[in-house]
Amino acid sequence: MKTAILTAPGRIEIRESGVPEIRNQDDVLLRTALVSICGSDVHYFSEPRVGDLDLRYPVRLGHECAAVVEAVGPGVSRVKPGDRVSVEPAVSCGRCDQCLAGRPHTCRDLRFLGSPGQLDGSLAEFIVMPERNCHALPEGMDLAGGVLAEPLSIGLWAVDLAGGIKGRTAAVLGAGPIGLSVCLCLQVEDARGVFVTEKVVARLEAARTAGADWIGNPLETDVVAGILAREPLGLDLVFECCGQQEAIDQAVSLLKPGATLVMVGIPLEERISFDIGRLRRKELRVQNVRRQNHCLDRALDLMASRAIEAGFMATHTFPFGRVQEAFETVFDRRDGVIKAMISIA
Ligand SMILES: [Zn+2]
Ligand SMILES: [Zn+2]
Repeated sequence: MKTAILTAPGRIEIRESGVPEIRNQDDVLLRTALVSICGSDVHYFSEPRVGDLDLRYPVRLGHECAAVVEAVGPGVSRVKPGDRVSVEPAVSCGRCDQCLAGRPHTCRDLRFLGSPGQLDGSLAEFIVMPERNCHALPEGMDLAGGVLAEPLSIGLWAVDLAGGIKGRTAAVLGAGPIGLSVCLCLQVEDARGVFVTEKVVARLEAARTAGADWIGNPLETDVVAGILAREPLGLDLVFECCGQQEAIDQAVSLLKPGATLVMVGIPLEERISFDIGRLRRKELRVQNVRRQNHCLDRALDLMASRAIEAGFMATHTFPFGRVQEAFETVFDRRDGVIKAMISIA
């Protein structure tokens, strides 16, 4: 089968490899159909060191994925060959304290699809995943919906962790696919006002489509002053979705006393800082978000019922042979790209 392999920083090659085998009773062999590129994939693509992890090449990336079931192990009952599925990329152990406490996303022995040193990614014609990681696509949903369910599920989890949204004000700092997903989920929960900031013009405009009531570009205007002019008492919630120190400082300025900062973005640096005096005097709560927990089916259902229309995020589709160009397009934020999809079939 064909695979796409990161062989050096900025360099992806198509290589041949053996088709993976069903080894466990509950394994499912999946024919990969569509994979989208995540911000985290682009970190690995461009940087030999991400956070505290030194990359060892070759690496096979990809974790946002829709696929068709090719074959199943003898213990599989929920899916059958021919079914179209959205893939939950986190494989948890099912036995540790975190799994038993209903937190498989912080499993002590978590293996994540396309995470270097954990599991080979979905940029390949076939992958094997446990049955519990295969979520059937609702009737009529296209493959892009099956792929977008993954980033959307992170938006849902971030909004869940923030607590009651209805009637409250929120800012989303950073309108990449995750920030836009948060924005879409805030609409579903009836936020009273959603303020979005973003430096890339195409993404800022997409925030309008995602339901933002106010948008501002930090390169052009003082976004903190702009938002506080409309909400002088400050905001109930800020979702930091770009991993930038500058946005974290803006969040502390924007929040009202007793409010919550939800940290969704992934900083490239190992450490970030807070103005602790202001954080303390306002008694702000800081809530971190680690991917998502049990939100994939809800994301699929919300798209199937059209409560959420996420299709506008899928701006580009590349054939498998042009995977290098797809990564470069996302890295350069070229051509108004939000989500680039790679068609594997
Ligand atoms: Zn992702
Ligand atoms: Zn576990």
